Amino acid sequence: MSERPDGRKFDEMRDIEAKVGVIKKANGSAMFRIGKTIAIAGVYGPKEVHPKHMEDPEKAIMKCYYNMYSFSVPERKRPGPDRRSIEIGMVMKNALLPVVNLKEYPRTAIEVFVNIIQADAGTRCAAISAASMALADAGISMKDMVSSVAVGHVNNEVVVDLNKEEEDVEGTTDMPMAYAPRMNKITLLQLDGKISKEKLKKAISLGMKSCKKVYEIQKKALKEKYSNNGE
Ligand code: ADP
Repeated sequence: MSERPDGRKFDEMRDIEAKVGVIKKANGSAMFRIGKTIAIAGVYGPKEVHPKHMEDPEKAIMKCYYNMYSFSVPERKRPGPDRRSIEIGMVMKNALLPVVNLKEYPRTAIEVFVNIIQADAGTRCAAISAASMALADAGISMKDMVSSVAVGHVNNEVVVDLNKEEEDVEGTTDMPMAYAPRMNKITLLQLDGKISKEKLKKAISLGMKSCKKVYEIQKKALKEKYSNNGE
């Protein structure tokens, strides 16, 4: 009884593919694809801090960079950082910080780079899911994984994982979420649009349920790498 443009059920995410170890020179890396949205994450560090005065004697500093390639969208995007990508870098960092044990790496820097090579909505969520896998792949000490997906309200229905066509529907509410499943902690909740209290509750619970499914896929990808002797 689906009314969604691509035939999905309201609680059905797009097809997901996840892999770690995709950038051999990085300390950790991951690819996360959800539908046509593809994120590649590379983690470098813990390493020396430049400039040195930025060092924290108590813990590592973590920097997160988000970039959308020019060719990732149908109309060529102007290359380089813009306000949106700077904001998403910050959003990613805030969503990941609660799970990373930075205190284990004083006086170092951990850098997380995410590039979006194809965008069809939900890129910040794909970026967070990929970054979390890349941090784990780098062997960084973590309390939990972070799994991320957007929920929202489209055509009077609460749905998960909006694609671009749904995001563009007049009156759509988009709610990117990130969730640490074992800690049972929501680490990101953004809200773009309006939603009633009842539907908000329903959306958050659908988001948590869906993030748990993302978590299983992330975990499987990490296990796969180590059962293949790291190749
Ligand atoms: P998210 O990708 O997390 O949903 P936004 O809501 O800011 O973040 O963007 C929604 C979608 O709009 C993106 O996934 C992408 O498909 C498209 N988009 C964003 N920025 C641009 C741009 N500069 N040019 C073309 N499309 C864009």
